[in-house]
Amino acid sequence: MWSQRAVVDYGLAKRAAIQSIRSGHMESRDVCDAHPYLLRAARTLGEPTDYGCPICERQNVTHVTYVYGDELGRSAGRVKASSDLVEMAREYEEFRVYVVEVCQGCGWNHLAVSFLLGTGDPPARGGLPG
Ligand SMILES: [Zn+2]
Repeated sequence: MWSQRAVVDYGLAKRAAIQSIRSGHMESRDVCDAHPYLLRAARTLGEPTDYGCPICERQNVTHVTYVYGDELGRSAGRVKASSDLVEMAREYEEFRVYVVEVCQGCGWNHLAVSFLLGTGDPPARGGLPG
């Protein structure tokens, strides 16, 4: 397995959003606004979870994983399967992973967690100083 670094858990913000809905301070349409692209990513590349949607409670949320990093080039901002991350963590020095939970039923979406992956080694340079 890889080692996750600099983990940021967005659970607190997520619970606050859910609480705002349940207490009537926010409407579900304010948080159930998943972009069509995100919904499609959830359907095709997302990974099912055992967690029920906190808003509609009708179906389980799906995790969609995005990767960002200077080294990734054109892969930056792409959706990846977690099996891809294992390979990427060996290939790149450092990149950040964002996991978004999405309900394909009502459109609820919220950042769940983000963390850094990678070898942690300086990138190999082509013999040039600096
Ligand atoms: Zn839902």
